[in-house]
Amino acid sequence: MAKKQTFADKVEKIRSAGAAHCPVCDEVPAPTKVREFVNEGGRMKLVTKTIKVCKCNSPNIFG
Ligand SMILES: [Zn+2]
Repeated sequence: MAKKQTFADKVEKIRSAGAAHCPVCDEVPAPTKVREFVNEGGRMKLVTKTIKVCKCNSPNIFG
């Protein structure tokens, strides 16, 4: 029987796998999709980016 994996287990697995956690707040940054407009040849284009968000930069991103 496979043991049910909890969220905490996943986090622990990510940590132990050597995921870079933030040296400032010591959180493992969560990949988060954001949309932003970029100027592409004079036209504004909406692009989706995946950025890593932790406690340090989330206020900058989410306001
Ligand atoms: Zn941080």
